[in-house]
Amino acid sequence: MLKTSAYAASQVHAPLAPFSLERRDPGPRDVLIDVLYCGVCHSDIHQVRDEWGGAVFPMVPGHEIIGRVKQVGKDVTKLKVGDLAGVGCMVDSCGECANCKRDLEQFCQKGAALTYNGTEMDRKTQTYGGYSAQLVVTERFALKIPPSLDLAAAAPLLCAGITTYSPLRQWNCKKGDRVGVVGLGGLGHMAVKLAASMGAEVTMLSTSRAKEADAKRLGAQEFELTKDDATFSKLAGRFDLLIDTISANHDINKYLGLLRPEGAMVLVGAPPEPAAVSAFSLLGGNKRLAGSMIGGIAETQEMLDYCAQHKVVSDIEIIPIQQINEAYERMLKNDVRYRFVIDIASLGAA
Ligand code: NAP
Ligand code: ZN
Repeated sequence: MLKTSAYAASQVHAPLAPFSLERRDPGPRDVLIDVLYCGVCHSDIHQVRDEWGGAVFPMVPGHEIIGRVKQVGKDVTKLKVGDLAGVGCMVDSCGECANCKRDLEQFCQKGAALTYNGTEMDRKTQTYGGYSAQLVVTERFALKIPPSLDLAAAAPLLCAGITTYSPLRQWNCKKGDRVGVVGLGGLGHMAVKLAASMGAEVTMLSTSRAKEADAKRLGAQEFELTKDDATFSKLAGRFDLLIDTISANHDINKYLGLLRPEGAMVLVGAPPEPAAVSAFSLLGGNKRLAGSMIGGIAETQEMLDYCAQHKVVSDIEIIPIQQINEAYERMLKNDVRYRFVIDIASLGAA
């Protein structure tokens, strides 16, 4: 076993604090990664506060991980020592069920092994995420990081990037499409950049007027304030696609009114409470309300290669791990521009 330094929440609502854990010795198909950077996703906050239920403590969050391969098992072919590697929201799946075979490991019928707040496929060994110095993962779930990407700014691609890339692809986002992105945080800013890179006409729908200039710099052509009711009448029937990234409870019906007939609204944000949706919000205009959860490993690799080709990475603020609790508070105040990334070197020697 390898002793690894980390930051963990010892129980629900506890602030994160230094923690020591053990990683397994790498098996024949495993890679041992020295973590360099880990992005801070709003899902980390939902989970350390047990807002989705079923949280397991102590919890080491973090699923936007970039590092360098330190050691490989004898049967590993995908990566070699010294390569860059990424790990996202999953570390394993059965690999045999119909969904795994379709490259949808996130929907593994046995339940994918989540990077933290879950278990390995043995359903016993607790998983610990990327707020840690080292990680051991089966090579199938390690991503190749194109070397042209800025490493810290690429870390958020492993969750925020794939979570927004996937629905844009599923709904065939293309040149001239009118795409509205709801909420300008970590996911939202990636949705703006990616939709703009695909040629869409992007409108940012935000509660924060102060983010207008940023939204336009990121690639949005329009910015509209959702606190203002006039926005919803002005933009009624306008969008082909809405990507909703809001992390808190909100009225979905209002946004459905912004879709053109047969337009789609895709939920990627995961607020703790269920939303009430009126049938009438969907009936008039044959509208589609959908969801999307991260992406499979093949699609995540495709997204990383796409981002290298199109020079898309996150706008980040690098923090030492000692500032993680403050970063959570700032995210809860919508004060993130636009992803915190932990410099794991700040953890000190393992
Ligand atoms: P984030 O950086 O905190 O951004 C969320 C944004 O939502 C905020 O910046 C704010 O944008 C808006 N918002 C927050 N509270 C709001 C409220 N009460 N009313 C209206 N707008 C509000 O969070 P994130 O990391 O992007 O994550 C967003 C959500 O996606 C979280 O629920 C997370 O768990 C979920 N998620 C889902 C997946 C998936 O696979 N589907 C993957 C990762 C994350 P403005 O200031 O512009 O209004
Ligand atoms: Zn995430």
